[in-house]
Amino acid sequence: MPKYTDALRGYAHPILKRDGYKCRYCGLDGTLWPNWLFLSWDHLLPVGHPQRENPDFIVAACRFCNEAHNRKVYEVEGMTPEQLVEQKKPFVLAKRAEYRQFYDREVNPEQVSKEK
Ligand SMILES: [Zn+2]
Repeated sequence: MPKYTDALRGYAHPILKRDGYKCRYCGLDGTLWPNWLFLSWDHLLPVGHPQRENPDFIVAACRFCNEAHNRKVYEVEGMTPEQLVEQKKPFVLAKRAEYRQFYDREVNPEQVSKEK
């Protein structure tokens, strides 16, 4: 197999595979095409933390969830990877809900009216 240097096929692939190719925050299913293209890895610990590059502290996340939060609000010391994900999740899901409201209003209002 060729050696890949990109995230999806290369360095992030073992993490994405471990997490079943699913975003740990919103559950986006990366086993489906083209969802897989939108997966990334999310470092749970801040730059400079000694465990930052430990794979246990890196999880699969879609690109939106990966970027939809402010790390500064989190406490990280002594927390497990699962606790770190659970701590971040409400912030990520709140941001997604904000974007969904905008989408429903501005991007696809007909779809909303059909569903209601
Ligand atoms: Zn996501």
